Amino acid sequence: MQGFFDTKIEFLKGVGPQKATLLNKELKIFTYGDLIQYYPFRYEDRTQFYPINMLNGSMSQVQIKGKVRSIQTIGTARKRRLVVQLADETGEIELVWFKGIQWAMKKIQPGVEYLVFGKPTAFGSKLNMAHPEIDVMTRQNQDVSFLQPVYNTTEVLKRKFLDSKAIGKLQLLLLQQAQSKIRETLPANIIQDYSLINKRAALNNIHFPKDQNYLQKAQFRLKFEELFYIQLRLLKLKLARIDKFRGAVFHDTDLLTRFYNDHLPFELTDAQKRVIKEIYKDMRSGQQMNRLLQGDVGSGKTIVAFICMLLVVGSGSQAALMAPTEILAIQHYQGLKEFAESMGLKIALLTGSTKQSERKIIHQYLLSGDLNILVGTHALLEDIVQFKNLGLAVVDEQHRFGVAQRSKLWQKNKHLYPHVLVMTATPIPRTLAMTLYGDLDVSVIDQLPAGRKPIKTVHRYDANRLKVNGFIKEQMELGRQIYIVYPLIEESDKLELKDLMDGYESACRAFPDVPISIVHGKMKPDDKDYEMQRFVKGETKIMVATTVIEVGVNVPNASVMVIENAERFGLAQLHQLRGRVGRGAEQSYCILITNYKLSKEGRVRIETMVRTNNGFEIADTDLQLRGPGDLMGTQQSGVLDLLIADLGKDGTILQNARAAALSVTDKDPELKSEENAVISQQIKSMKKTAINWSRIS
Ligand code: ADP
Ligand code: MG
Repeated sequence: MQGFFDTKIEFLKGVGPQKATLLNKELKIFTYGDLIQYYPFRYEDRTQFYPINMLNGSMSQVQIKGKVRSIQTIGTARKRRLVVQLADETGEIELVWFKGIQWAMKKIQPGVEYLVFGKPTAFGSKLNMAHPEIDVMTRQNQDVSFLQPVYNTTEVLKRKFLDSKAIGKLQLLLLQQAQSKIRETLPANIIQDYSLINKRAALNNIHFPKDQNYLQKAQFRLKFEELFYIQLRLLKLKLARIDKFRGAVFHDTDLLTRFYNDHLPFELTDAQKRVIKEIYKDMRSGQQMNRLLQGDVGSGKTIVAFICMLLVVGSGSQAALMAPTEILAIQHYQGLKEFAESMGLKIALLTGSTKQSERKIIHQYLLSGDLNILVGTHALLEDIVQFKNLGLAVVDEQHRFGVAQRSKLWQKNKHLYPHVLVMTATPIPRTLAMTLYGDLDVSVIDQLPAGRKPIKTVHRYDANRLKVNGFIKEQMELGRQIYIVYPLIEESDKLELKDLMDGYESACRAFPDVPISIVHGKMKPDDKDYEMQRFVKGETKIMVATTVIEVGVNVPNASVMVIENAERFGLAQLHQLRGRVGRGAEQSYCILITNYKLSKEGRVRIETMVRTNNGFEIADTDLQLRGPGDLMGTQQSGVLDLLIADLGKDGTILQNARAAALSVTDKDPELKSEENAVISQQIKSMKKTAINWSRIS
């Protein structure tokens, strides 16, 4: 059945085939339904006139009215501009045109009263408004008070007269025809419980709000609905998996007891113990585990993963650990090898640079079951890598891997899907985690091992370099090691390589007797590893590097992290880098070096780093600054192409929507009740139009 909202957009009056093609291409608007869900991205406040003496340069666009006192053109040729003095009872303001001067001169007459809309800008003590909208004041337009919707459009569309105003007109026309066709899309009890306005009122007011209050209600309702259906989808995925996918059942063995009694080198933190309990519970439940393990840098996720592996290996199954880079895989391998071998377990490393002859042996031992633990990079995912009986796959630093890769791991066990534990060190704001990983269970290590001293972070300018060098020298005399980090070297980015090389040379000059390592992305893996190892062993005292050391590297004796051009790093990255120090018992330091010129956002980032060590607080600030679309790893997800909700700002709405979705799946998982019929129907129509819905899984 072809519903009203499936009608092709070209059939709307005033659109036609040509404009329809443009709307398809430029805005992905194909149907009436697409148009009505093309919401304004902001509103111009036409509800009041501001007195001119109340204006200031920090205001956004405002509406004023006044009489034109004078009109003159100033300057010649390219510098020519039109300057109009507009006055009301309270004061005067200059209106300025650099373009369209002829047009404006025709339209504007001295002594006439005008309605003007634009952004006031301060020039010294004076205010002006450049290129405002201006209309003669009439009886009609002076009482009209409304919030005018502003729609995103493109240059191509504007050239074909499809600017924001034109889209507004189409919306108005469509809404008039649509009134009787708009169905409610949420069940009555939810509407009541969350005091939502109905769907029709929401659509009317999102495009043409009666007032601020109605606008807010419309926004709340539509955001709630959008997030509700995403959460419902995720919860249903989770339910479906619990039903469908059995998992191997593992029990404690004496292997574990032996490890706890004889080999565990430190006391686990309470948070680690709690998380291990949660994971064990999953792995005994008979259902396949899909769990996200979140923990700030240095919180000790690796040992947790290892202890979980022991549960599996102790019962004769195999475990795998996948890391995003070779360096990390090597480091995990070396860390785990010590434990594994002391317990008599076989462990191997598989990366892109593993030799063919070694690979063969690894493949063979994996199949025969002689190999207990395999550590590696995404080389693990290749089809040729087959296990006899993979019980647990651990994925470190999830943000580098996609959802698709996660599910590829599942296929590694033909009989039963292996349990999957995803570890991430990028603290993700709760709102994002709930959406990106809404189908996973989440465990959080929210505690650092005892005795860690909070890292002291300071901001220094380039000009203070001598002082910084003096400090580095002091620290080295105390026996500590130092990182000096430069922004990432991208492919063919010669400039940044030069920065790094210059930095290396100046470090060599400043500390002539000190052995210094250098590591960057352009080096061969062997050379990189060699240099890393020299630093790990303490043979070199300073490591000059790019962000290849960002994730996971563990050198407890390194206590100073100097970050050059710190303004060029994102917050998440700065936090990751800082996490490389503060791993031993000594006081650690992070020194952020910038030049004097800093963007506003750059300054906020640096100030945030200096203020707090809390990864979750930092992640929240990051989300506020950049919006979810830019956060690492979220681009590929598609989950975040939201129509109206903003995960950076709508955390509370999301929590409510999640709670509402949970209460639905708790009471009526199959959506069989009459009350929830609207939900089933909405899911069907969303599937048909593939909005958001299909992108999630
Ligand atoms: P991350 O969570 O960032 O991956 P790691 O697993 O690399 O952290 O652990 C950081 C360091 O802390 C390692 O040297 C590890 O051995 C140590 N560590 C982990 N747990 C504890 C603990 N409970 N007590 C003391 N040190 C610990
Ligand atoms: Mg780690």
